[in-house]
Amino acid sequence: MLYRTSTASTSKVFNLTLLSLLSRLKDRIIGVFYLPRLRTVVPLLDYPGRLPRPFFYPIEEFELSNAIEMTCLKCGACCETRSGVFAFENELLEIEQYIGNRVNVEHCENIRLLTGESTRVCTIASGKCPFYDVDTRQCAIHRVKPIICRVFFCTLVGKKGSRVYVKVRGPQGAPLYVEWTSDIATLRKKVRSFSLRLAARSSF
Ligand code: SF4
Repeated sequence: MLYRTSTASTSKVFNLTLLSLLSRLKDRIIGVFYLPRLRTVVPLLDYPGRLPRPFFYPIEEFELSNAIEMTCLKCGACCETRSGVFAFENELLEIEQYIGNRVNVEHCENIRLLTGESTRVCTIASGKCPFYDVDTRQCAIHRVKPIICRVFFCTLVGKKGSRVYVKVRGPQGAPLYVEWTSDIATLRKKVRSFSLRLAARSSF
């Protein structure tokens, strides 16, 4: 069965609960998609059982065929300048096992989730992520990267089949995806320059 997640809430605990649930469903996430009917970008999952509301909602197959899958062009701007990357305690353990070393974190906090569970969430970096390789523009822990890196990334570019789409501002500020017909290298440069400008502005 196909599910979409709820959209992000103004409640930090709600968002962390959703992320914590998603972190245990990593293998079921089929991607992050723009759904035209809802005019929003959300992760989609393929899951055989029932997933709990208000975190997950079933959707029809046709929504997937209309959807645009968000695509990382590996411009590097997010991971390089304002990653804000954080991990739940179980994710940190997984990363530490993968790299064979401790992860230095900026700070941690204990959170009581809406499921009643308690967990610890640690900020790894607010700026450049220590796992980002500037030369290759690759994530060194791609296989075990935290759930936040799986489901929350650039929404500027998407793909549907062989077509590439770029986000523009639509009516009432809603996102609108229009087809990009020029080359990808130019698009990557534009996305990187836009993201770096955004990062510079938000650091003031
Ligand atoms: S863990 Fe990987 S994807 Fe996440 S911010 Fe760091 S380099 Fe980027």
